[in-house]
Amino acid sequence: MQTKKLYYEYFSANPYNAELTEIRHIGEKEAALVLDRSIFYPEGGGQSADRGSIQGAALLDVREDGEEILHIVGAEDARRLKPGPVECLLDLRRRRDYTVCHTAQHLLSGTILRITGKATVSMRLGEEICTIDVDSPVLSEETLLAAEDAVMDAIEENHPVIIHLCPPEDISRFPLRKAPPRGEDAIRVVEIEGNDFSPCCGTHCASTGQIGMLRILGAEKYKGMTRVGFIAGRRCLEESRLLRKNALTVSRAFRVPLHETGEAALIQLEKSARLERRLGELEEIVAENEAVLLAAEADRSVAALIVKTYGDKSMEELLRIGRAAQKKNGSFYVLASETDLKFAVFTRDKGKDLKALFGKKMESLGGRGGGGNGFFQGRFENGSGLAAFMESLQEGKTE
Ligand SMILES: [Zn+2]
Repeated sequence: MQTKKLYYEYFSANPYNAELTEIRHIGEKEAALVLDRSIFYPEGGGQSADRGSIQGAALLDVREDGEEILHIVGAEDARRLKPGPVECLLDLRRRRDYTVCHTAQHLLSGTILRITGKATVSMRLGEEICTIDVDSPVLSEETLLAAEDAVMDAIEENHPVIIHLCPPEDISRFPLRKAPPRGEDAIRVVEIEGNDFSPCCGTHCASTGQIGMLRILGAEKYKGMTRVGFIAGRRCLEESRLLRKNALTVSRAFRVPLHETGEAALIQLEKSARLERRLGELEEIVAENEAVLLAAEADRSVAALIVKTYGDKSMEELLRIGRAAQKKNGSFYVLASETDLKFAVFTRDKGKDLKALFGKKMESLGGRGGGGNGFFQGRFENGSGLAAFMESLQEGKTE
């Protein structure tokens, strides 16, 4: 049954009363509601479908199917509905958001065409960011800023947006920015007075002032073209709020005014990098000192096996110490980190298979690891396993 399409005049009434004429179940999870008339815009022309509810059933999608508009709701919701009068409620803020973004897209594409002579090939109105693909391998930052300013001029000048329904044979009287669709009885032309003519079936503002604001977020190369990202309307307000909140956090943390936060962050990063380099140098010195002590202990010992557990060092630090110690004599150094529950065996003596020497004991106490001649390492699930392993090595030494 044909659905009367009322979505271009949504502002005339919301909620809106309609007649539910048919409920079609689609699979197990969804159903399509058919109404005699609909205020819900179905997906099309690069614009997403509306959201809202029909007699309390939340709309999941709206699709155009020939003369009908299918309102998709959950199967559960559909079961409690029956044909007859229903109240339709449109998610107005979402509709306005897409209407604003869509009109802003026309204005931006028309402006970039006027400034650069480059056409918009495709567009996408996303949930968060909208994009247009401009048929140009590059668009300079100056060009984008000029386009942004020109769009803001047109918004402030509040040009009317006029809809023309034109028979295909007369379409040449409009200087269209892109080719009109074929096979339509009447082509819908959206004119932004003084700026742009586009064939389009989406929803648009009544005048450019309703866009409020447009921000170009950036541009990137895309398949030989330039993809320009932008936001418009309330999205600019939301982004401004978010950016200010973040900037305030940085401003308070660094104790600098808002406009100096970027510079302050860069200075802090440089400082951190310098400190990290210095810390690395100091850690090398600490590791070397500890290695000297371990090597001296090894020189005094008969067993030539040094077993030591550290409660305050990471395995990374122990790797540095072990590698420094093994250079000083031919002893075996078994160093464990209580914090990381790991241990490693270091020696410059490449003639012994360390896995054969330490692997069995480690596994019998619940540890896992690997290695071979010159180096072996392992880890335990808990501190008691590691402690038992290290203790067994100490005992083995004195036997
Ligand atoms: Zn449009």
